[in-house]
Amino acid sequence: MNWNLEHTYSELPEIFFRYQKPEIAPAPKMVIFNEGLAKDLGLNPNELQDMPEIFSGTKLPSGAKPISQAYAGYQFGHFTMLGDGRAVLLGEQITPDGRRFDIQLKGSGRTPFSRNGDGYAALLPMLREYIISEAMFALGIPTTRSLAVVLTGQDVFREKILQGAVLTRVASSHIRVGTFNYVSAFGTQEDLQALADYSIWRHFPEIQETDDKYVLFLRKVAERQASLIAKWQLVGFIHGVMNTDNMAICGETIDYGPCAFMDTYDPNTVFSSIDTEGRYAYKNQPKIGAWNLSRLAEALLPLIGKNQAAEQIAHYRECYEKNWQKGMQEKLGNTNETPEEFLQRLKKDNLDFNNSFPNPTVIPRNHHVEEALSAAEQGDFSVTHRLLAALKKPPEDAGEYSRPPSAGRCNYKTFCGT
Ligand code: AMP
Ligand code: MG
Repeated sequence: MNWNLEHTYSELPEIFFRYQKPEIAPAPKMVIFNEGLAKDLGLNPNELQDMPEIFSGTKLPSGAKPISQAYAGYQFGHFTMLGDGRAVLLGEQITPDGRRFDIQLKGSGRTPFSRNGDGYAALLPMLREYIISEAMFALGIPTTRSLAVVLTGQDVFREKILQGAVLTRVASSHIRVGTFNYVSAFGTQEDLQALADYSIWRHFPEIQETDDKYVLFLRKVAERQASLIAKWQLVGFIHGVMNTDNMAICGETIDYGPCAFMDTYDPNTVFSSIDTEGRYAYKNQPKIGAWNLSRLAEALLPLIGKNQAAEQIAHYRECYEKNWQKGMQEKLGNTNETPEEFLQRLKKDNLDFNNSFPNPTVIPRNHHVEEALSAAEQGDFSVTHRLLAALKKPPEDAGEYSRPPSAGRCNYKTFCGT
């Protein structure tokens, strides 16, 4: 199976994690397995796709030392202590070419950070995360990935009874802006420095030996966030819950809860049922990126100067603007309209965002995702597979997949899906 797990995160001071085993699932059953990703990780897909017990947490892969990670976060602007309430990190898989990826189970039972939650996840939100994260990957947008979804064979109680499931999430790391918020509130300066050094080692090793490495660290995170959020804007992706605990410092899109793609262009679009004020509306995402970075900068203040911190936030804004302008020019090609004029016209004429360029041809449109999930709820995964195939390699004639929803299906709402 070629597991090659290391555990560098557990070498951090003990306030950063707790050892925590996943729960045993009564009847694990594989729903979907990502063969391509398994191969990329150096794992043997043929063996593993028949081992749902591994991906439910029932049986640990060799060398696993599961932990739950501690973090806090500014949720809709307010500081809260959080942590992996329903996730365990099995370890860091080292690929044959030496890359390092977190392998995390999401929905595998309670942890010391569960608060009032049951630690479980339901099938449809996990399958939704699988579909959208893999679509983001196909679109060339940095993202955590999905290796598998398994049914646990156990009911999960929400407003109604749902099928319990576990998602295996793969990420360059799960270090969040919220991990820095956590250490800033509850740790010592040594703890903060340990986390910053670890993050630099893991994601920006080229700055390790520089004199001003903590300033450069903030600068690099700013650049990655500016690049990421510009990419979101360019395909109409709305994350939905850009709390600081859902912002990875490696610059990957993480935590696919109430996210969705915009059909008709409207900068005020919000899908999340809980975002009543529109804090995380499409048009606000770039500024929220700056707000979140400011929370990271604050956490780093014991290590860097105030002016230096402010300069990096300004740098984020410049990088974002550059990335967005360049991306829009590329998408528009030769035209007399400026990007701003083009968008004004889309708004005025109520036009579909992606089809108006018309690239990319296939995005995971809400009505298609819903069709896939409705079928999956009845045990039919063929619609999900067809959608994933179209997202991975858009057909010559994208046909139904590029069609916007009919007028009656435009009022899409998403839920956090816990
Ligand atoms: P999320 O909305 O998925 O970003 O989760 C926010 C916080 O709530 C994180 O600390 C999660 O671990 C925690 N959480 C979400 N769902 C559950 C659950 N069912 N049980 C325990 N903790 C949860
Ligand atoms: Mg989260």
